[in-house]
Amino acid sequence: MKTYRGARTALIVGAGVAGLTTGIALARSGWRVEIAEISPAAATSGWGLCLTGPSLRALDELGLADRCLAAGYGMSGITHVDVDGVAVDEVQLPRLIGAGRPAMVGIARPELHRILHTEAERSGVVLSRGLTVTAMVQGDLVGVEMSDGSARQADLVVGADGIRSAVRGLLGFEAPIDYHGQMVWRALVPRPVWATGVHQFAGKVNTAGLVPISDSRAYVFLTENGVAPNVLPDAELAPRLQQLLEVFPGRVEEFRSLVSASESVVRRPVQTVFLNGAWNNGNCVVIGDAAHAPAPQMASGAALAVEDGLVLAQELGRHESVDAGLEAFVGRRAPRCRTLVQTSVTIADLEQAQRHHEAYPLVDACHRRMAEPV
Ligand SMILES: Cc1cc2nc3c(=O)[nH]c(=O)nc-3n(C[C@H](O)[C@H](O)[C@H](O)COP(=O)(O)OP(=O)(O)OC[C@H]3O[C@@H](n4cnc5c(N)ncnc54)[C@H](O)[C@@H]3O)c2cc1C
Repeated sequence: MKTYRGARTALIVGAGVAGLTTGIALARSGWRVEIAEISPAAATSGWGLCLTGPSLRALDELGLADRCLAAGYGMSGITHVDVDGVAVDEVQLPRLIGAGRPAMVGIARPELHRILHTEAERSGVVLSRGLTVTAMVQGDLVGVEMSDGSARQADLVVGADGIRSAVRGLLGFEAPIDYHGQMVWRALVPRPVWATGVHQFAGKVNTAGLVPISDSRAYVFLTENGVAPNVLPDAELAPRLQQLLEVFPGRVEEFRSLVSASESVVRRPVQTVFLNGAWNNGNCVVIGDAAHAPAPQMASGAALAVEDGLVLAQELGRHESVDAGLEAFVGRRAPRCRTLVQTSVTIADLEQAQRHHEAYPLVDACHRRMAEPV
């Protein structure tokens, strides 16, 4: 049985955005941290992410915002384009890390993971791949059985294992995963020169957009409304996405043809989770998408995940006992995360009802709310 001596010990389950940033924040506060990640390989999935102001602010606190800006594409504006191809709204997002730096960054997922992994390892976090938890017993320490037959004794167990969290189940928490009748598409394409910010195009049925992720690349997104969460064969993805983009006028026509040569087209269901009630039990807690997974419309799931890591380390530092720290953490996080998940669902519903003009001010107001201090 593996045991830890000396410093307080944390076992984090899941090496996504939440797990890695929590590992970094705890390790810097003097914790000994191991992350057990079920996937045997580093994240290679090629789609991009838009990290909004709160993500950048939280990453800046970890000293990582500039690395993300260097690896991605910094920008500050969102252009909303109406069904007839006319730009109707230009939103400048607040620059939360200072007037001289952009409000948000588009970045390839593997780049973000590379930055977080490198920093976690530099901070002394041990990352064990191809490993998960199979059972947990609460005592003075949490006794954990691992999938390879080994065991751990830790002061703290953090479930950062995503929307289908196994830790959430082991803790006995029930949280339905809601599907919202939408599938979201992503495809990597060369960046058109005019794409210097996020562009969102309202369609008669679906919504499309473009987000730069480097000087040379951008990702196309499309939200497909009113469909079952079925899986399409890989060979059908690029032609089907092109077909769905055909009905959009104006600038979408310019990047539609680029999709056929895309190195990566993915299609995922819009699903949300919000864990009502406690997220913690004794010395165990769930964070990130395991506790609160928003619909991607607000592009803020990663922001919540990074903030979770920072706030968790802060509250554990402020409280003598781990369970008191976890209580304080959940009290601080739940209202903000609930607001974001609920707003993202409302926006998804408005999109499906073609009530885009009602969604824009809601998106704006929610970004302003998220800009408030954590
Ligand atoms: C299509 C799409 C687009 C999105 N776009 C954006 C965006 O532009 N901006 C944004 O901020 N957010 C976006 N999001 C949301 C964002 O990706 C998530 O909110 C964020 O990744 C949550 O981080 P997480 O670490 O909690 O979970 P995840 O990123 O899901 O990471 C969980 C990790 O746990 C591992 N794991 C799972 N089960 C186990 C287990 N049993 N044991 C051990 N390890 C396990 C997984 O392999 C993974 O590494 C998007 C989401 C989707 C689906």
